[in-house]
Amino acid sequence: MTDTILEPTISPEEIQIDASLRPKSLSDFVGQPRLKQSLELALAAAKSRHEPIDHVLLYGPPGLGKTTLSHIIASEQGGSIHVTTGPALTRAGDLAALLTNLEEGDVLFIDEIHRLNKVVEETLYSGMEDRRLDLVLGKGPAARTVTVDLKPFTLVGATTMYGSLSGPLRSRFGIINKLEYYSDTDLSSVLTRSANILKIQLDRDAVLALAKRSRGTPRIANRLLRRSRDTAQIHHHNHLTLQAVNDTLTLLQIDELGLDASDRELLTRIITYHHGGPVGVETLSSALSEDAGTIEEVYEPFLIQQGLLARTKAGRVVTDLAYKHLGLAKK
Ligand code: ADP
Repeated sequence: MTDTILEPTISPEEIQIDASLRPKSLSDFVGQPRLKQSLELALAAAKSRHEPIDHVLLYGPPGLGKTTLSHIIASEQGGSIHVTTGPALTRAGDLAALLTNLEEGDVLFIDEIHRLNKVVEETLYSGMEDRRLDLVLGKGPAARTVTVDLKPFTLVGATTMYGSLSGPLRSRFGIINKLEYYSDTDLSSVLTRSANILKIQLDRDAVLALAKRSRGTPRIANRLLRRSRDTAQIHHHNHLTLQAVNDTLTLLQIDELGLDASDRELLTRIITYHHGGPVGVETLSSALSEDAGTIEEVYEPFLIQQGLLARTKAGRVVTDLAYKHLGLAKK
């Protein structure tokens, strides 16, 4: 697909900036009121029992704050955070090494937890449930099992694909929360906060213009803010005006709904080559040279939320709104 603001891989530079913009406490975390309330309550109750909170599962599209929340949970309960991902844990031994190193109150954050392999996932069950691990040492007839007790810890699992999680894994989380796309008002607060941290002078109408094009996603809002700052630096004497934002959005080919060239390519493909659908995600994946998982987890959720695309049993179908938005006639 073409250059995109949705870029699922994050550059090392961006990881650093992300960390500096990341809210450090629940009170700094913008939006998601129901989720915040439920976490606040769980943290306060656990604190009064002198225990870490129950295992937490966070799900929703990328860039909405799952990693941020896991850092906040660790710091609110006075523990450290250990970060890994489902695909990185290839052997049960890798997981055991992580779990046995946790101190009381620590958080083990597993991103993309739906991608854990079966053996590792099954090892995780007893670690989560009984805080103990049964480890098999050695091989063949000499093999023996030792049981290791773990310190009270919290597992925070994050996933963009709630439906891909197995029932047994899901049932071992005590707190399950969905992250929703952010409103324009909430994104405006995210942007204002980030502009203060990055010392960017930002006009009020420029904030709203950025918020409206950020697909309800703080990570994208922060990306667009930084790209607009570049324009402001070169052409607008460092002052981030509405004009600087509009120039940047035009350059990045982001339209008034926040769709970029890749989103429009996806919709146009379904209309032009498949009469509006239904078409399978695998077909789209090979036509657009994009990973099927990325299409499902990164592109589609927002298009569906905007009412431009629907998932049916037979495949993806574009809606009348998509034809209208792209200015294409139905044949
Ligand atoms: P995810 O883990 O869901 O992909 P992250 O937690 O990495 O998302 O969030 C991406 C970036 O967006 C973070 O660096 C942070 O700066 C910003 N962000 C996310 N949620 C919020 C929020 N509620 N308030 C302020 N900034 C946020």
